Amino acid sequence: MTLNDDVLSIRLKQRIKPEPFDRPAACWLGKDNIRGEIMDVLTVIFRTSGCFWGKQGGCTMCGYVYDSAAGEPTVDDLMSQLENALLRAEKKERFMVKIFTSGSFLDEKEISREAREKILGRLAADERVACILAETRPEFVTDENAADCARLAAGKPMEFAYGLETTSDRIRLASINKGFSFAQFRKACGTARSHGLFNKGYLMLKPPFLSEKEAMDDILRSIDEAEPYVETISVNLCNVQSGTYVERLWERGEFRPPWLWTIVEILKKAKTKHPGLYLMSDPVGAGAKRGPRNCRLCSHDVADMLRDFSVTQDITVLDRIDCDCRKLWEKELLLDDMTFGSPILDRWPGNDQPFRQHILWKTDHPGKQDILKILKNGFSRVTFLRKNRPVSDLFFLFFTERISVFFTQGLSVFSHKASVFFHTRPQCFFTQGLSVFSHKASVFFHTKDFSVFHTKGFSIRVSVFFSHERSPCFSHMTNLRTASAATRITENRIRAISAPP
Ligand code: SF4
Ligand SMILES: [Zn+2]
Repeated sequence: MTLNDDVLSIRLKQRIKPEPFDRPAACWLGKDNIRGEIMDVLTVIFRTSGCFWGKQGGCTMCGYVYDSAAGEPTVDDLMSQLENALLRAEKKERFMVKIFTSGSFLDEKEISREAREKILGRLAADERVACILAETRPEFVTDENAADCARLAAGKPMEFAYGLETTSDRIRLASINKGFSFAQFRKACGTARSHGLFNKGYLMLKPPFLSEKEAMDDILRSIDEAEPYVETISVNLCNVQSGTYVERLWERGEFRPPWLWTIVEILKKAKTKHPGLYLMSDPVGAGAKRGPRNCRLCSHDVADMLRDFSVTQDITVLDRIDCDCRKLWEKELLLDDMTFGSPILDRWPGNDQPFRQHILWKTDHPGKQDILKILKNGFSRVTFLRKNRPVSDLFFLFFTERISVFFTQGLSVFSHKASVFFHTRPQCFFTQGLSVFSHKASVFFHTKDFSVFHTKGFSIRVSVFFSHERSPCFSHMTNLRTASAATRITENRIRAISAPP
């Protein structure tokens, strides 16, 4: 089963709500820095027949495909959508119009050539419209339609925007399932420029399977590599949209949206390195449990700080706020890099105590340094996870607390040799005799619902085992079906970050 099959199987369960064809999917007013000028911006999301790529599976984080029409809007419908949206900007004297379609403006199956000409003609004729942006996948940019757009814009600056997401073809393929290459993006930018059009790239911070640090490095490298082709880069922060593959990972506790500190750090570094590049980020859903976030005390203020930076491009704005949770983020940067992307730290809403202190450690043979690092950073439970092996037979358990509560349910097969644990409801724990596990000399003596956990070297502890189906740490092991899904996730992740390009 490919990643696209997984995405498609989720898509097929969703239903597109019937909405009127003469209203845009959404439109709103905002402010943006347009190549040095701070301007009002009217964003219009046209309701079209939808993204061809999303309809056949598509991107792992994208829920925009559900904004498409349950049919094919006509040219008149699309023009009515535009007129409806323009009413929002009635009182504005000068503004930019951003055209999104939850797909591609230049895909003639979504926006016919006739509709394209009418939309651009209408905007070009409106004196208040200062400039135009249209989003498209790069494979739809041709010499012909770029020349058309330049002609129809009638001298107004026009810009193509692309959801490049990352300059790494490997991450775009194995983590996002985007379906085009960096080379296609570069070609589209070149074509647009040759007709006097501008280019804008959208990058995606922390798509699935990347740790916080990997995600940060990916965006920093992507900004360096995309900068020669674009005037503006906007970094989107991966959030959890309904009906997406990312949502499924998130529901299982296998995805955490990025920290806002990560994008703060990225913008500081990238703006210092590329002062002439327009860099922006508008963190959608900041502070919400499905959105990018820090702690509940600072998330909203940091999101406002990011928006202020986007408009002013003043790097000193990014030092305006600090918070204690920054230390936790630094810890996550250090440790998340060693996990299989499973979230390792989070907080109860309304309570700043970390509730998850568990880590999946990607090594076959944990050394003393690994253990010391884990202990120093306050992790009380560690699962050692081998690369390239099914999840169900590769777990080592290491408890450092005096009493460890271990949640599991269903069949779990542990250890590298032959320790098999059968768990039944509600909290019965038994094994077939003596189990010897771990990498050195851990010996488990099991009784029915209680076990003495004796290890040589690190600790001698008592562990009490309970069974509970809402396990925060082992939810993906609660039955074989989810274990095999976790295996696929692990494989996808390995493909995304470890395979040769
Ligand atoms: S992110 Fe863009 S290209 Fe990908 S499925 Fe969504 S609309 Fe289509
Ligand atoms: Zn905070």
